Amino acid sequence: MGRSSKDKRDIYYRLAKEEGWRARSAFKLIQINEEFKIFDGVSRVVDLCAAPGSWSQVLSRTLRGSAADPSSVKIVAVDLQAMAPLPGVTQLQGDITKTSTAEAIISHFQGDKAQLVVCDGAPDVTGLHDLDEYVQAQLLLAALNITTHVLMEGGTFVAKIFRGKDVTLLYAQLKIFFSQVSVTKPRSSRNSSIESFVVCQNYSPPEGYIPTMVNPLLDLSYDGSWQDLEGPNRVIVPFLACGDLSAYDSDMNYPLQMEDGKSYQYLPPTQPPISPAYTVAVAMKRGSQQASGESPTTTTITTTTGKKD
Ligand code: SAM
Repeated sequence: MGRSSKDKRDIYYRLAKEEGWRARSAFKLIQINEEFKIFDGVSRVVDLCAAPGSWSQVLSRTLRGSAADPSSVKIVAVDLQAMAPLPGVTQLQGDITKTSTAEAIISHFQGDKAQLVVCDGAPDVTGLHDLDEYVQAQLLLAALNITTHVLMEGGTFVAKIFRGKDVTLLYAQLKIFFSQVSVTKPRSSRNSSIESFVVCQNYSPPEGYIPTMVNPLLDLSYDGSWQDLEGPNRVIVPFLACGDLSAYDSDMNYPLQMEDGKSYQYLPPTQPPISPAYTVAVAMKRGSQQASGESPTTTTITTTTGKKD
């Protein structure tokens, strides 16, 4: 495909070049702002997963352009990849799922917190929808976790989300932290794409919530002091064993002689599988035995009909 054919087909691609944006995604943030006015009164922003930098460009041009003193606008941009410098944008290169990157971002906001955090993060798409949705959701949760450290109460969080079948769980998680959660699909986002954007407004964490970067489920070096976490900070779902000690232990082998003295009698499965994976293997084995003139072995296999062969 020639360069010009892409230019003709995609108006946003063409406009991005005409207007000097580094990527066509610039229009997504512009259109989200037109609808939700997320830039109003904002001068401190974090742009997560920012490269090549079109969202940072939009932030820099809009916020610095409308500020009486452009140097008062603080924009921190983070990405795995380096990007060319932009006026008024501080860059951090790192993985937003890593504690060290989160700490570096947090260190920029020790005084005044950010009023807006945006995240256009996307993993390298594999084409396996369930996997892509899962990884995207993890990226969004990593972004949310960082956001809980740096966003001021009342602030806004905007992030790319894949609207897959389990997306309501993510909405529920976001609703814990924001009183208003909306989903939006800007005109510049292709209809063929599963992507949308969550616009989470009025950051209001649960009372007593203390942001933490610890993920006890993933961090194997964690020493277990999660016992200290209480109330809304306690994220571990309690584990309870059920069934008392008189029940059979599923990891034990028991003798075939039953407790009541009777011998164990084999019983066929109550419901054999309807389409077992071994059906093809059985047919192939039979075919090769007939071809070689061998008499069939005496192996007994239960087929789909439940009959013994
Ligand atoms: N908003 C950007 C713009 O307008 O130029 C485009 C962002 S691009 C769609 C997605 C970015 O997410 C990529 O640059 C990629 O490097 C970044 N990314 C993906 N996973 C990341 C991670 N774990 N940490 C940091 N950046 C990540």
